Amino acid sequence: MMSNPLWPHGPLPSFSSLRPEAVEPAIDDLLENNRRQLAELLDGPADFDWQSLVEPLEILEDRLHRAWAPVSHLNSVVNSEPLRAAYNACLPKLSDYATELGHNEALYLAYRQVASREGLTPPQRKLLDNALRDFHLAGVDLPAEKKARFKAISQELARLTAKFSENLLDATMAWSRAIEDRVRLAGLPSTAMELFHQTAAQRGQEGWLLTLEMPSYLPVMTYADDRELRREMYTAYVSRASELFPAGTQWDNGAIMEQILGLRHELAQLLGCANYVELSLATKMATSPQQVLDFLRDLARRSRPQAERELQELADFARERFAAPPLEAWDIAYYAEKLRQERYAFSQEDLRPYFPVPRVLDGLFGVVGRLFGLHIVETQGIDTWHPEVRFFEVRDAHGALRGHFYLDLYARPNKRGGAWMDDCVNRLAFADREQWPVAFLTCNFTPPVGDKPSLLTHDEVETLFHEFGHGLHHMLTLIDYPAIGGINGVAWDAVELPSQIMENWCWEREALARLSGHWQSGEPIPDELYAKLRAAKNFHSGMQMLRQLEFALFDLRIHLEYDPTRGGRIYPILEEVRQEVAVVRPPAFNRFPHGFSHIFSGGYAAGYYSYKWAEVLSADAFSRFEEEGIFDPGVGAAFMREILEKGGSEDAMALFVRFRGRPPTIDALLRHSGIAG
Ligand code: ZN
Repeated sequence: MMSNPLWPHGPLPSFSSLRPEAVEPAIDDLLENNRRQLAELLDGPADFDWQSLVEPLEILEDRLHRAWAPVSHLNSVVNSEPLRAAYNACLPKLSDYATELGHNEALYLAYRQVASREGLTPPQRKLLDNALRDFHLAGVDLPAEKKARFKAISQELARLTAKFSENLLDATMAWSRAIEDRVRLAGLPSTAMELFHQTAAQRGQEGWLLTLEMPSYLPVMTYADDRELRREMYTAYVSRASELFPAGTQWDNGAIMEQILGLRHELAQLLGCANYVELSLATKMATSPQQVLDFLRDLARRSRPQAERELQELADFARERFAAPPLEAWDIAYYAEKLRQERYAFSQEDLRPYFPVPRVLDGLFGVVGRLFGLHIVETQGIDTWHPEVRFFEVRDAHGALRGHFYLDLYARPNKRGGAWMDDCVNRLAFADREQWPVAFLTCNFTPPVGDKPSLLTHDEVETLFHEFGHGLHHMLTLIDYPAIGGINGVAWDAVELPSQIMENWCWEREALARLSGHWQSGEPIPDELYAKLRAAKNFHSGMQMLRQLEFALFDLRIHLEYDPTRGGRIYPILEEVRQEVAVVRPPAFNRFPHGFSHIFSGGYAAGYYSYKWAEVLSADAFSRFEEEGIFDPGVGAAFMREILEKGGSEDAMALFVRFRGRPPTIDALLRHSGIAG
């Protein structure tokens, strides 16, 4: 077997020794090798079965993945000019290789031959069904000139989506605001003040430095009494990577978005779909664009009255208590926090001292220990890409190794915003090999300041649980073939089930007793504060629901209604969607789509609705825990067996029904959100 030219020293990548200039030659080598081996394989006796075709191909794909996944990850979390150049140089080559595989008719026929054989196991059959479907979606049956066009479009889309993400990162880093007069920061909590001070000091400046990274942006919008400062920062944040961005217009994503939409539409039509939504749904649980539109609009209709009440209450409160002028977009979070404090007598900041990172991790590991029998232990001395990154090992109730994960928790420059899980190594177990999954878990929390541990808000604890749920899906898989193990091969609108269900436990009293511990006294969150947290759980849930539905409808409609003669109509469609569902109307200069990386550079294109779709599944699945016991080990074991371990080896609906005993209903989601259907 060929060793991995980029990471030659064993199963884990040696991140600190990666030389960006070594990336492209290594990927070239791997691709050349893969091409040669594939040609040899297809030249051999034309009598293919599972062992002689699928297994060798899974190994070729896995080798490439193990080389590329760490490079792609580093490009996201320690971005630099040389790495970015190497990454971008490889993108078209990888895109071409993937297209070639999809267009390889001999390979397609070989898969069909294997699929026609008797005696395949259900997971093997699922892998082959997916593969044949994907050949079709890659255009295997297209004439040559259309295949060439497909390849060119795929390559161009890979380049444009990467550029979108680069522009957003560069714009985010280009803006900062130095504050010398403390008075301008009145209202901000001490955690934020310390961070701003540390940020200034790191750049050799006095005073306080605000940036557009989340740990800086969010507290200003929530707490800064200085309305002008909030307006200034809001204006910068919502116009990132647009023609209106105050720190420069060289990162404008406007033309890129148009190009992406146009190319996606053309790609869909090449394959015989009416639009990109049809193509997107071909691999999802939802069956038609209309079904998704109806689903989103039904939720909007049920949530709207409550959202309107919430906004009216907020406006009245701001006017009566603070003599505030009519609410603008930069006032919403600020007065919402004031109202929350008055109504529930606590602030998100009051919770921070109870959630120091070491305690939260211990509590999280405790929860998955009780639910799934897992033991999680940190491994020291593992090579990583940053001193803050840690590495852990996951063992099951029998002491058997199940997987590993890297944990990279804190915001820093040159790191993409948001939180996500990605796979580093996939489980692969056949042909005398057994390879355990490795995950990347990435967040952008407030870093530790001075000697103080990082203190999380409850929202951040929830985010950590969410990403950990994705991680469990990846790491606990017992499916031996990477193409259908972990999150691979899972319908995208079901992939948020394991992540969203995990969020529930950080609201449970029993879990919080262990999750929380005051960073100085060690005292867990007091009953009184817990009661307030619970009571405030659905604060503004109507407005939040509509916001998510606005994003989802917007994403669906720009892909559904794309018309080459009229262009993307991105902002006109956004305006129509807002007229239909939004209660909060952002100002005209809001350039939200220019930074909507989920759909323009992530995997959520014509699929953002998946969050809500999967929330129906996750809320309903969690209601079984509510019925039989939040920590019931039997239910935990069933969830692990039917969902987490199965990956994409069966249809998501079949797995859900096996766990829940019936198909999903929307009731639990509405109940959990406090919305009376
Ligand atoms: Zn997620």
